[in-house]
Amino acid sequence: MIVVGGGFGGLTTALTLAAATDGPPVLLIEPQERFLFLPLLYELLSGELRRWQIAPRYADLLAGHGVAWLQERVVTINHAERELRTDGDRTLNYSALVIATGGRANSFGVPGVSEHALAFRSLADVERLQELVRRLRLRLRPLQRLAVVGAGASGVELACKLADLLAGAAVIELVEQGPELLPGSKAFNREQAHLALQQRDVRLRTHTRVAAVLADGLELQRGADDASATAPVESLRCEAVIWTGGVAPCVPALNPPIDLDRRGRLPCDAELRVIGTEGVFALGDAAACPLGGDASQPATATVPATAPATAPATAQVAYQQAACVAANLQHLRRNDALEPFQWNDLGEMLGLGVGQATLTGMGFTLAGPAAFQLRRLAYLARLPGPLHRLRVAGGWLAEWL
Ligand SMILES: Cc1cc2nc3c(=O)[nH]c(=O)nc-3n(C[C@H](O)[C@H](O)[C@H](O)COP(=O)(O)OP(=O)(O)OC[C@H]3O[C@@H](n4cnc5c(N)ncnc54)[C@H](O)[C@@H]3O)c2cc1C
Repeated sequence: MIVVGGGFGGLTTALTLAAATDGPPVLLIEPQERFLFLPLLYELLSGELRRWQIAPRYADLLAGHGVAWLQERVVTINHAERELRTDGDRTLNYSALVIATGGRANSFGVPGVSEHALAFRSLADVERLQELVRRLRLRLRPLQRLAVVGAGASGVELACKLADLLAGAAVIELVEQGPELLPGSKAFNREQAHLALQQRDVRLRTHTRVAAVLADGLELQRGADDASATAPVESLRCEAVIWTGGVAPCVPALNPPIDLDRRGRLPCDAELRVIGTEGVFALGDAAACPLGGDASQPATATVPATAPATAPATAQVAYQQAACVAANLQHLRRNDALEPFQWNDLGEMLGLGVGQATLTGMGFTLAGPAAFQLRRLAYLARLPGPLHRLRVAGGWLAEWL
C-alpha cells in the first residue's frame, strides 16, 4: 500500500494503517525531510515556538512505526497499470494508493506573484520573513510599508503576528478583493479579527484587487468584481508583498488522464475513492470530496455557495478524512462495504498576534491569552507521533515552571 504525500492527511493515514493489528505494509513517499505543522507556522515566525517542535523529521516520526519512507517526489501515476514513477526514476507497483499531495500558493494568474511576492508555507519562507522583519526594524527608510494579500485566515493571522513583531517599524496593509475579511468564518472570530487588526493599526483594504505585484509594490484596482478590470490602477509602494491569496492543489500527472474539478482537484466519491480509477483514494487539499455528515453547517470560505459542497481545505478535514481512508483501505482488503466520509465541524481557531487567539467551537467562544493557550493545547494533541507530543509538552511545561 502506498501513500503519496506525508502532510496532515498522508502521514495520519500511514500511521493509522500501520498501527492496525493486521495492518498492511505501508510505504510513504514524501520528498521533504521534515513534516510541517502549518497552523503553528506563525508561532515559529514570532519565536514563540521552535523549529523542532513544529517540524519534526520524518525519520524520527516514523521510526518503529512500521512505515517505510521514500524521500522522493511522485511524478506520474498510471492507475490503469497500478504503478507510479518518482523523480528518482523509480517505478513502483501498488495494490492500493492514497494521494495526499496537498496544495501550494495560488497566484490566480496575477502577474509578478512568483517573481516578487513572498509566500508563507515553508520553513524557508519563515526564514525569509524573519530576515525581512529584522531589516525593517532597523528603520532604514521613512514610512516603511508591508502588504499582505488575502484576508483569509492565513492573511489575517500573519498580519497580526507581523504587526506585533514590527512594533510600529512598518505599516501593514491587508489587501482583500472581497467585501469582508474571513468570509465564511465564524462571526465571533471575524469580530475578534477586526478588533485585533484595529488594535495593531493594520490597514484593511477590502474591495481591492491586486492587478500586479511589482519589485517595489503593488498595482491595485478598487472594486471587488469583474467591473474592477476597468477601474483605474493605483500604485502602492511597499518594502515587500506577502501573498496569502489562496491554495491551488498539487496533483501528480495521472495516466490515463482523469477530469479534475474546476479548481484542479481530484474528484472523489463519498468513500473518498478517486472517481474514474480503481484502488486509488485521495484526501486533503488535493481532493474534491463531498462534505458529508454535518452538511447543515454553513459552507466555509473555501466552499463557494454556488459550488457543490466539498470539504474545505483545512488540516481538520484532512485528519478526519485520513481516519476514513485508513478504515476504507482495511475494508477493501477484507472485501467489506466501504464507509462514507462524515465531516464533523469541530470549530475554528485563529492566532491573532503574539500570545493572542480566538476560537469558536463546541458551543463556546473565547478570545485573548486563554484562547491562545487552549489553541496551543488543542494543537499539541494533534502533533504527530506520541513521542514527539511528549517532547513538545515537556518543553512547554518547562517554560511555564
Ligand atoms: C500558513 C498556514 C496555516 C494554516 N493554518 C491552518 C489552521 O489553523 N487550521 C487548519 O485546519 N488548517 C490550516 N491550514 C491548512 C492546512 O495546513 C491544510 O489544509 C493541510 O495541510 C492539508 O493537508 P494535506 O495532507 O492535504 O496536505 P499537506 O499538509 O500540504 O501535505 C502535502 C504533502 O505532500 C507532499 N507532496 C506534494 N507533492 C508531492 C508529490 N508529487 N509526491 C510526493 N509528495 C508530495 C508535500 O511535500 C507535503 O508534505 C494552514 C495552511 C497554511 C499554509
